[in-house]
Amino acid sequence: MTASMNVPMNVPTAADRRILVIEDEQDLASLLVLHLSELPAQVMVANDGQTGLELALAHQWDVIVLDLRLPRLGGLDVCREVRAKSAHVPILMLTARSSELDRVLGLELGADDYLTKPFSVLELQARIKALLRRAAHGARPESADDGPVRIECGALRVDRAQRRAWLADAEITLTPREFDLLWHFASHPGRVFTRAELLSSVWGYGHDGYDHTVNSHINRLRAKLGDERTDASYIHTVWGVGYRFEAVA
Ligand code: CA
Repeated sequence: MTASMNVPMNVPTAADRRILVIEDEQDLASLLVLHLSELPAQVMVANDGQTGLELALAHQWDVIVLDLRLPRLGGLDVCREVRAKSAHVPILMLTARSSELDRVLGLELGADDYLTKPFSVLELQARIKALLRRAAHGARPESADDGPVRIECGALRVDRAQRRAWLADAEITLTPREFDLLWHFASHPGRVFTRAELLSSVWGYGHDGYDHTVNSHINRLRAKLGDERTDASYIHTVWGVGYRFEAVA
């Protein structure tokens, strides 16, 4: 981390992007700093969960890279605490291959994406770039500026410019990915999307075994919309195929 971290910056540039890495393995942390700095970005490292949480809440970050197995405070707790206080910062979790449960829990707790160790540098950079693009532009790149900026659907109101949503005039707190997912659905009412299509459109890359990612985000989004599995007002399960958005009065 450079000394300029605490200096106010007026004109944001690519180099001003700030990434917090919470990782206790020194070798991996050094590798992450090396390769994330190339993006370019300013990278700060915390070697335990408690320090990581304090840093996460004390500064503005464009992305937080969060290991799940951490001393002092576990990654899932860090994820939950950060999400409770900051709905918008993208979180990329690092998980061990064996910890399927951690991965699912992490996504349920509000992580935007995960990488399974060991991962390639290129894959890491691609994931971080995707999260940075979204953080910078406030939307996935292909959504551009065409199309409506506000959608009203029954009691649901979604505003793309503000990236906020309301249900019966009460604001719903959404993570960046949840918002993207909701916007994608709401702008294509009636259309059935497979999980693979949602991954490609909302996450922007293909990957084997990512059904968990989609399922977890949809489950959380549905909970926030008040949708039940069998009695949904907005996001409906199309058995054996995927999901469909349709406002049911
Ligand atoms: Ca660890």
